[in-house]
Amino acid sequence: MAKYTGAVCRICRRENLKLFLKGDRCYGDKCAFERRAYAPGQHGQRRTGKMSDYHLQLREKQKVRRIYGILEKQFRRYYYRAEQQKGVTGTNLLILLETRLDNIVFRMGFASSRNQARQLVRHNHFLLNGKPVNIPSLQVRVGDTIEVKEGSRKVPALLEAVETVVRRGIPNWLEVEKESFRGVMKALPKREELAMPIQEQLIIELYSK
Ligand code: SF4
Repeated sequence: MAKYTGAVCRICRRENLKLFLKGDRCYGDKCAFERRAYAPGQHGQRRTGKMSDYHLQLREKQKVRRIYGILEKQFRRYYYRAEQQKGVTGTNLLILLETRLDNIVFRMGFASSRNQARQLVRHNHFLLNGKPVNIPSLQVRVGDTIEVKEGSRKVPALLEAVETVVRRGIPNWLEVEKESFRGVMKALPKREELAMPIQEQLIIELYSK
């Protein structure tokens, strides 16, 4: 499974937005974006001027791809799937991304970032409807239960995430029983519940050229 292994904070600086990719660090003074809110690189502070439509579309696509930690090929596949579904393609795309297992683990507060969630899933710490799973991209369905394995409930990264989830809260479409390390996806998220500064129509414009 390929993944981005470069410096993470420069991604936020490139997209000119806090993407919360590093868990706890993102909420403190050490956040690189708080300290240097300009693009990375030698000319980062000099780049100004009007962006072309293509540039805006590309940046939006990169931003979403990076929020969810997905590489280009797989992201394009999500777009094709979203296009084939009924409804608004942009919303379908975001829902597909939101209902990935690693994202749900992160949203439920069992990991402090999506990267960490992906790693915890890969390391077999979760059960989906009572069965072991280790595929971060698995699509979770309404009514599915996610549970931390009994033997994994003392993993320090997981315990820390459970304690600090209060900072970002748990969305309404999920239900979590913190004490029993278990959560259920009650419903599909609605677009307005995904309070993220994303203009998904720009991504659709980019891919439908
Ligand atoms: Fe982004 Fe978090 Fe790094 Fe801040 S600390 S720049 S929010 S990844």
